[in-house]
Amino acid sequence: MSAAHTSRGRAPGHVVVIGGGISGLAAAHRLLEGGARVTLLEASGRLGGKLLAGEIAGVPVDLGAESMLARRPEAVDLARAVGLGERLQPPGTATASLWTRGALRPMPKGHVMGVPGDLAPLAASGVISPEGMARIAEDETLPRTEAGADVAVGEYVAARLGREVVDRLVEPLLGGVYAGDAYRISMRAAVPQLFEAARTERSLIEGVRAVQARAAAQALPGGPVFMGIDGGIGTLPGAVADAVRRAGGEILLRTEVRELRRTAADGWQIAAGGRLIAADAVIVAAPAGAAARLLRDGCPAAADELDTVDHASMALVTMAFRRSDLGTVPSGSGFLVPPVDGHRIKASTFASHKWDWIARADPDLFVLRTSLGRYGDDADLKRDDAELVELSLADLGAAVGLAARPVATTVTRWDGGLPQYAVGHVGRVDRIRAAVAGVSGPLRVCGALYDGVGIPACIGSGQRAADEILGTLAAGPATGE
Ligand SMILES: Cc1cc2nc3c(=O)[nH]c(=O)nc-3n(C[C@H](O)[C@H](O)[C@H](O)COP(=O)(O)OP(=O)(O)OC[C@H]3O[C@@H](n4cnc5c(N)ncnc54)[C@H](O)[C@@H]3O)c2cc1C
Repeated sequence: MSAAHTSRGRAPGHVVVIGGGISGLAAAHRLLEGGARVTLLEASGRLGGKLLAGEIAGVPVDLGAESMLARRPEAVDLARAVGLGERLQPPGTATASLWTRGALRPMPKGHVMGVPGDLAPLAASGVISPEGMARIAEDETLPRTEAGADVAVGEYVAARLGREVVDRLVEPLLGGVYAGDAYRISMRAAVPQLFEAARTERSLIEGVRAVQARAAAQALPGGPVFMGIDGGIGTLPGAVADAVRRAGGEILLRTEVRELRRTAADGWQIAAGGRLIAADAVIVAAPAGAAARLLRDGCPAAADELDTVDHASMALVTMAFRRSDLGTVPSGSGFLVPPVDGHRIKASTFASHKWDWIARADPDLFVLRTSLGRYGDDADLKRDDAELVELSLADLGAAVGLAARPVATTVTRWDGGLPQYAVGHVGRVDRIRAAVAGVSGPLRVCGALYDGVGIPACIGSGQRAADEILGTLAAGPATGE
């Protein structure tokens, strides 16, 4: 809550939030806590963006994001604040595997985003060939590798430990977050603790050990690393929206914002859904392309930067099987697939094992999902839904021996779903924020593009934008309607 605002004890004005994904909803929720009047405008007919609750064979499932990091407070705290505390639920299992080098192999423990700090479990896992393990050992004697102002994760790790670690470990783990390409993704933005280690330690393995030692010394509270919500993460947007409405916020669906105009009095006029809305301040919580269009006239420097951001597309194939059809039910939480192994799917998540609420809803059903497509590898996404199901079944057969036909399937396409944090991302975000904050009417941006694509980071960016707007409005006279 904005201390500046509450100390003055007056409502700070009318704020329009553009975009009803989790970032915009979190911003609206925080603004209302701070006493603002809030209108949230969402282009589509539903809230939540990449959080999407669905159903398969009568069982509730997530068709978009499905778990949230619990080691950061923002997502679990927001879930509790909107009444979902009792429904927070850790995954039933976190035993993931890698399908690589012709077999399903245990994910080795003791790594930071796939970069090992402990070589014994890595060697035992069989994920890396003997030649690859020998190359990793060269890290001990190689001279320092400069990380400079930023470097691609893959480039730096390959220089220290060889390409095999990147291709078989870093790539699938980073891919699980960004659907990206490790040789393009910024180490500074995506794995800042590794970037810091690269700047201070000559050996990367020593750097990873230092990161792990620091984490242990911070004595992070125990408890699960990830959390789900009974009924699906996709139920969070609705709960936040209910809280926003209860607090007096207005939410308009099917209201695409087409234009943002500054008024002479340093306020805003928003053209959306065939009407003009006046506001004292605006938060743009829409993805990069839409944000660039909206900021083109009022803040061209930010729009130019936003236009340079690439996105990855992917599809999720959710399938339900009768357990009696399966013979052996595959175990664990699922598996990742390094692209270098040449298979079609990039990962599979065994939702019935991971989330107790899915298993409970129909104990005879086994629900899993696969993902296809990533940055620069979207040929399969041109195929129709039935083909994506068949590609998935063929890979599942080869990976875990699954031979049954599903009783229900759902394909969910996420075109341009994940922004890519390319080398130089941190600087780009700083420049966008500086340009936006320099506009004379109060304006902020938030969303998956800025501080991390994960749900807690998105919520954090929405709350930060809201706090800054509350502070700005509290410091100056409100000018809107
Ligand atoms: C398939 C997939 C799986 C994922 N899995 C996970 C996961 O398990 N855990 C995790 O932490 N993260 C996950 N992520 C990432 C995370 O879900 C997203 O980064 C996050 O939800 C993005 O939220 P957002 O509000 O910033 O953007 P969005 O969800 O994209 O919301 C933006 C909203 O703005 C609206 N909009 C756009 N233009 C306009 C306009 N002109 N006017 C009005 N409204 C507009 C859109 O319709 C949309 O509703 C996943 C992402 C994807 C794609």
